[in-house]
Amino acid sequence: MATKFESAGKPAASTQRLLQAIPKVDEFLGWLDPALDAPAFLVKSTVRQLLESLRQEILKGGAIKPADLSQAALLPRLHKLLAARLRPNFRTVINGTGVVIHTNLGRSLLPEVAMESLLAVGSRYSNLELDLATGKRGSRYSLVEEILCELTGAEAGLVVNNNAAAVMLVLDTLAKEREVIVSRGQLVEIGGSFRIPEVMSRTGAKLVEVGATNRTHLRDYENAISEETALLLKVHTSNYRMIGFTSEVPLTELVTLAGKHTLPVMEDLGSGCLLDLSRFGLRKEPTVGEVVRAGVDVVTFSGDKLLGGPQAGIILGKKEIIAQIKQNPMTRALRIDKFTLAGLEAVLRLYFDEEQAIAAIPTLAMLAMPLAVIDRKAKRLRRLIGKELGSVCKVELKNITSMVGGGSLPEQPLPSRAVALAPLDRSVNELEKGLRELSLPVLGRIEDDWLLLDLRTVADKEIPLLANCLKEVFEAKNT
Ligand SMILES: *Cc1c(COP(=O)(O)O)cnc(C)c1O
Repeated sequence: MATKFESAGKPAASTQRLLQAIPKVDEFLGWLDPALDAPAFLVKSTVRQLLESLRQEILKGGAIKPADLSQAALLPRLHKLLAARLRPNFRTVINGTGVVIHTNLGRSLLPEVAMESLLAVGSRYSNLELDLATGKRGSRYSLVEEILCELTGAEAGLVVNNNAAAVMLVLDTLAKEREVIVSRGQLVEIGGSFRIPEVMSRTGAKLVEVGATNRTHLRDYENAISEETALLLKVHTSNYRMIGFTSEVPLTELVTLAGKHTLPVMEDLGSGCLLDLSRFGLRKEPTVGEVVRAGVDVVTFSGDKLLGGPQAGIILGKKEIIAQIKQNPMTRALRIDKFTLAGLEAVLRLYFDEEQAIAAIPTLAMLAMPLAVIDRKAKRLRRLIGKELGSVCKVELKNITSMVGGGSLPEQPLPSRAVALAPLDRSVNELEKGLRELSLPVLGRIEDDWLLLDLRTVADKEIPLLANCLKEVFEAKNT
């Protein structure tokens, strides 16, 4: 066995021969088809990258043979690297996870009308901040404020970047350097390290925790109220559910208590749905309208969770409080762009007719989707792949449960149907990875050695694409 180095710093003769066999950049470029459809700059830098990686591999004593440095061996490697660099980093995927509001996959999908509006204001000038009646400067917030108020009964409102920003902005406006009373049962972490206590300390608001983890009573709030109190805060515990010996103070009682002490009440509603979801067989969530009617002074919620719109943080409430928030310089830093406004207005307008909202807003349509419809989609996918994949993979239909996601309605089971795959030529984990790394990535979930593709979150028009992805991943291994 030859040692890797004859002496420190001097490569062995065999290593040197391999290094010398690496083609020069210009030589490599000469091998390429002149019709290759890629910017010359990118081609050259990819060739350099490939040659450098070979050099490093050889110096490390990796298992490289002279044949690995031939044109026949290197050209396909270059084409593969180049293809990876040419495709966009940010691209669409097929969501077979069955998680409807999947934060990692972009949360809510926008309805067709919202996309048309986005396209229009993106490619043409708009009245973003122009009051067309007076010809003077207008406010971008006024474009959706009236609609939001009509839909919820709120007096006023504004929209910022997301709900986390909305919570920070309200606390910064109403409770800077003062105390905010919140129940210990509601000190939630939303994910992505957004924790209520940390957000509050950032804004300079001082947290006064009351009650116990499982139970908080009205007298706990009452005993904590002092000269320093600025706000009573209720946080909707949207991403977890306490069961057993628990109690929370209803919003109406908090509002009455706050009224006696002339303090405002805020609710961070999290998901913020505008219509009653119990009609889809889902657990009843408080709607924004109900929270407003209960007399809350200010409520915040996300635009891209159960509402089904673009990423946004919606703040609604009493006129004086919203006016104060609009004056806060932080509002300017958290403002939404024209795409958000375009998408949000289009989605909100759909809510004027609830049936239309359910049919047109993908998040609602997927939550309300009857099992029979999901079953038909699953059968169609199986029909498209069954024959071709039969020899390399077991394909079955399975009953499973989808999830709402986005920290909304945890443990709310949604009966669904999946196409389940058990590959015969590789492990299920390898199949999962192979699908995830396609140009059009496919995401599913693994249960009991089956890869499940939940058809609830796969659109009709994606089914043929999904079938092609499955064929591609099996062909890649077997050719
Ligand atoms: C999701 C959520 C947030 C954060 O909302 P984003 O729009 O993701 O910033 C804050 N509070 C609660 C209760 C939530 O559920």
